[in-house]
Amino acid sequence: MSQGLINVAYIGATILFILALGGLSKQETARRGNLFGMIGMGLALVVTIIGLVTSNYAFLIGALVVGGSVGLLLAKKVEMTQMPELVAILHSLVGLAAVLVGYANFLSHSSGFTGIELTIHHIETYIGILIGALTFSGSVVAYLKLSGKWGGKPLLLPARHWLNLGLLILAIYFGIQFVGDASAGAGLTALMIMTIIALLFGIHMVAAIGGADMPVVVSMLNSYSGWAAAALGFLLSNDLLIVVGALVGSSGAILSYIMCRAMNRNFISVIAGGFGSGAPKSSGPAAEIEGEVTPINVEEVADMVTTAKEVMIIPGYGMAVAQAQHMVSDITKALRKQGVNVRFGIHPVAGRMPGHMNVLLAEAKVPYDIVFEMEEINEDFPDVDVSIVIGANDIVNPAALEVPDSPIAGMPVLEPWNGKNTIVLKRGMASGYAGVENPLFYKENTRMLFGDAKESLEALFKLMS
Ligand code: NDP
Repeated sequence: MSQGLINVAYIGATILFILALGGLSKQETARRGNLFGMIGMGLALVVTIIGLVTSNYAFLIGALVVGGSVGLLLAKKVEMTQMPELVAILHSLVGLAAVLVGYANFLSHSSGFTGIELTIHHIETYIGILIGALTFSGSVVAYLKLSGKWGGKPLLLPARHWLNLGLLILAIYFGIQFVGDASAGAGLTALMIMTIIALLFGIHMVAAIGGADMPVVVSMLNSYSGWAAAALGFLLSNDLLIVVGALVGSSGAILSYIMCRAMNRNFISVIAGGFGSGAPKSSGPAAEIEGEVTPINVEEVADMVTTAKEVMIIPGYGMAVAQAQHMVSDITKALRKQGVNVRFGIHPVAGRMPGHMNVLLAEAKVPYDIVFEMEEINEDFPDVDVSIVIGANDIVNPAALEVPDSPIAGMPVLEPWNGKNTIVLKRGMASGYAGVENPLFYKENTRMLFGDAKESLEALFKLMS
């Protein structure tokens, strides 16, 4: 395949990737966006294999079959609630690939560059391996945290910010050593020391994240994996990889920034680690809870919602666990038929991944125009007759606004307690992801409907129809 044809195909793939990102920015166009992305990736893969690879076909096809089968199997098997973990572990593979390609490239001494170009190439190698290594170890810790294999509590080492600064200075020092030595064919020791430093930094950075700040870190690791891919593109002199890496890197960075703003967090503080973990008090109950828990049964709930004029549904992680979205959709339809105005309030970090609730509600065919972002509807709660909180906890925790030393202090939350009645569907009194108690459950106008969300909603739906 001629270089001209390869370039044209790469430009086509790049345009498809940009259209994919544009499509993914709105729920209505997300499916089309995904399709553009798939076609773009298919095109990029085919052109790279046919156009650029000239030998080792058996090895390449073997790797494609193994990688493709694992991907297919994972995609088929993974539950919606496990998606964030899957994304985290996939990010780790991008990081690992950057490290391996960086080393292979360095050890083969095959760049063909001399003079200043060679120095630049060595700097690229160093940075590529650095970003790759910290993306790898950070993503593995994120995977362990998201899958519950590593506790949610932040690891707060004494003087952790100094430790981070020390690691950064060491990485720069060994970078200077490496670039100096590499031109003379040495530098492997400096490279390996830096790799260990970067791995430790990745572990420490994510281990220190606490409270409800994991979403920002996950999207930040997404961004890092993009930059790692871009670094690979420079090493391999592959323009498409540079562009795609930059697209993923910058869109991940923008998403992290948007999430930080939505959660009232300082971006730098979050990535410096330990933000949101609060003082040592963070592990215990964050607020002195007053009041009592008042359970309610499903008959009473049916009575309340069918006589209400304004109902607000607040879905959270528990709705995803229970796979209750279809039941939620059926109940919404039934209530709307009876003239009840039903709306949904979506918190930016509800569930376990950005847009988690929107995806589930779209899957269950809940109309887009009754689904609102938190800041659009928070002021409307005083007019709401019944708020139904389905498997949500942290995102409706008043402690975020009222308890200054809470691990989730400062995070904006949905405020159903300002409405007339709140019904919370959950199985017991367990805390949410951030591990803090929720005073909402003890408020006078809150009732708890205990049980699996799907089973409770099925019972409710039966009573309504
Ligand atoms: P939470 O994790 O705070 O709470 C979920 C609640 O659902 C639990 O208290 C649990 O209580 C209940 N639950 C679990 N299973 C069921 C079930 N089958 N039926 C009924 N209830 C159930 O979820 P939120 O959505 O409120 O908040 C999201 C949290 O996750 C935030 O802290 C956020 O920062 C974090 N996070 C978000 C990410 C994102 O990108 N969106 C990524 C990573 C973390 P019980 O066991 O008593 O039933």
